[in-house]
Amino acid sequence: VIVARDVEKWYDNGFHVLKGVNMTVYKGEVLVVMGPSGSGKSTFIRTFNALEPYQKGSIEVDGITISHDLKNIEAIRREVGMVFQQFNLFPHLTVLQNVTLAPIWVRRWPKAKAQEVAMQLLERVGILEQAHKFPGQLSGGQQQRVAIARSLAMQPKVMLFDEPTSALDPEMVREVLDVMRGLAKTGITMVCVTHEVGFAREVADRVVLMDGGYLIEENTPQEFFSNPREDRTQKFLSQIL
Ligand code: ATP
Ligand code: MG
Repeated sequence: VIVARDVEKWYDNGFHVLKGVNMTVYKGEVLVVMGPSGSGKSTFIRTFNALEPYQKGSIEVDGITISHDLKNIEAIRREVGMVFQQFNLFPHLTVLQNVTLAPIWVRRWPKAKAQEVAMQLLERVGILEQAHKFPGQLSGGQQQRVAIARSLAMQPKVMLFDEPTSALDPEMVREVLDVMRGLAKTGITMVCVTHEVGFAREVADRVVLMDGGYLIEENTPQEFFSNPREDRTQKFLSQIL
C-alpha cells in the first residue's frame, strides 16, 4: 500500500533529516517504527500523508504518488488517517462533532449518516457515553480514543500513529493499545511509531529501526527484539528494555 523509495528530506534550515529511506508497507500489515529521539521517525511517517514535503525519491500510497510539492494532498489525506501524541482534537467541538466534521465537510455525507457512523465508531472505541462532552472534559486516554474514531470516520486505507500513548498516564496506555489491537485485527494497514515493546511483539508484522535519518534494520518482531542483526538495534534495545 505504501512504497517509499530513496526518500530524502531537508528542513528549511538545511538539516538533512531523511537520508534515503526505502520502505514498503503491505496491505493489512502492522508496521512498528522505533528509534532514538531525533532519528526522523515522525518526519518520515508525516511524509506518508503529505504533512511534510520531501525533496528526493518517491512515496506512493495505494498507487497515488505524493508529489514533492504536495499538490495532490487532498487525495492522499482521504486515504491516510493519522493519530498524534497530543490528540489534536478541536476543543470547542463536542466529541460527536469532532468525529463528524470531516465526513460532513470533506466526504459530503448527510449529517444523519455521519452521526450514525460516528456513534458506531464511538461505541467501538468504548466512549459512546461521552459523545456530547467536550474534549476538555475527558481523560487523556478517552481523548486519544476520540482521535482514533475521528480518523476512522474518514474510512482511511492506512492509519498512522505517532507515539499515541506517550502523553498518557500509565493507567490509560492500555485502553488505547487495546483499541489499536482491535483495529489491527480488522485488517487495516497500520504504521505505528511506538516504544511499546509488548504491543510491537504481539501485534506488529514487522518492526523497523530508524537512526540518524536512515532505516537501519527491518525485521520480524521476534528477531528484532531477541536476535537483532544490527549493533545499533542492540544498542537501542539496551536503552529501552
Ligand atoms: P522523537 O522520538 O523525539 O519524536 P523523531 O524520531 O520523531 O524524534 P523527528 O521529529 O522526525 O524525530 O525529528 C528529526 C530531526 O529533525 C530532529 O533532529 C529534529 O530536531 C529535526 N527537526 C524536526 N522538525 C524540524 C523543523 N521544522 N526544522 C528543522 N529541524 C527539524
Ligand atoms: Mg517523533
